Amino acid sequence: MEFSSKLLENAVNEMSQLPGIGKRTALRLVLHLLRQPKEQSFLLAGALQKVREEINFCKSCHNISDQELCEICTNPMRKKELICVVEDIRDVMAIESTGSFKGLYHVLGGKISPMDGIGPQDLNIEALVERVKSGAIKELIFAMSPTMEGDTTNFYIFKQIQDFDVTTSTIARGIAAGNELEYADEVTLGRSIIDRVPFEASLKL
Ligand SMILES: [Zn+2]
Repeated sequence: MEFSSKLLENAVNEMSQLPGIGKRTALRLVLHLLRQPKEQSFLLAGALQKVREEINFCKSCHNISDQELCEICTNPMRKKELICVVEDIRDVMAIESTGSFKGLYHVLGGKISPMDGIGPQDLNIEALVERVKSGAIKELIFAMSPTMEGDTTNFYIFKQIQDFDVTTSTIARGIAAGNELEYADEVTLGRSIIDRVPFEASLKL
C-alpha cells in the first residue's frame, strides 16, 4: 500500500494492529475520521487514553472496574459464598446479561494453554485459591468455554482446592463443545448455570 502521507501511513499502521482490522479496513477507518469534525477523533483518542490510564481491575474478582472493588463484589444483594469462575471479562458480561446468576465472579484472565505458553502462574489462579482458603466460599462454578484448554484449567483449579470445604460444579453442556461462552444465547447460558452439574460427575462423562 502506497501512501502519499507519512502521517496517514502511521495512523493506518497503528489502527491495523487491532484484531480483525487489516490494512484496507484501517485505511477506511482513518479516512472516515478525517472526514468527520476534528472533535470526533479527539474524543476517540481521549477515551482510549483515559481507559488505559485509569481503568482498574477489581482487587477481589479481577473484573474491570472504575473502583478498587467492582459493582458486583460490592453489591449487598449478591451471594458472596457462590463464585463463578470465568476466563475473561466478556464472560462476566455474557452471564450478567442472562440475569440468572446472583453470586460473584472470579476472572482468570485466560486459560491454561501450553501451546501458547500460558501456564497457571500467568492467570489469577492463586488469588482464587486464596479466596477459597479464606473459607467464605461454599461453591465454585466452573464456567470456562468447553474446550480442551478450558477443561485443563478447570481440572488444575479443582486439584488446588479439592482439600478445602468447597463444592465444585460446572455449567451444563447445553453449549456445544468447542463453542466460546460469549456466543451462547442468553437463555441457553442462563439455563446451563442453573442446571450445573457436580464437577466430579463431569469428569466421568
Ligand atoms: Zn469484583
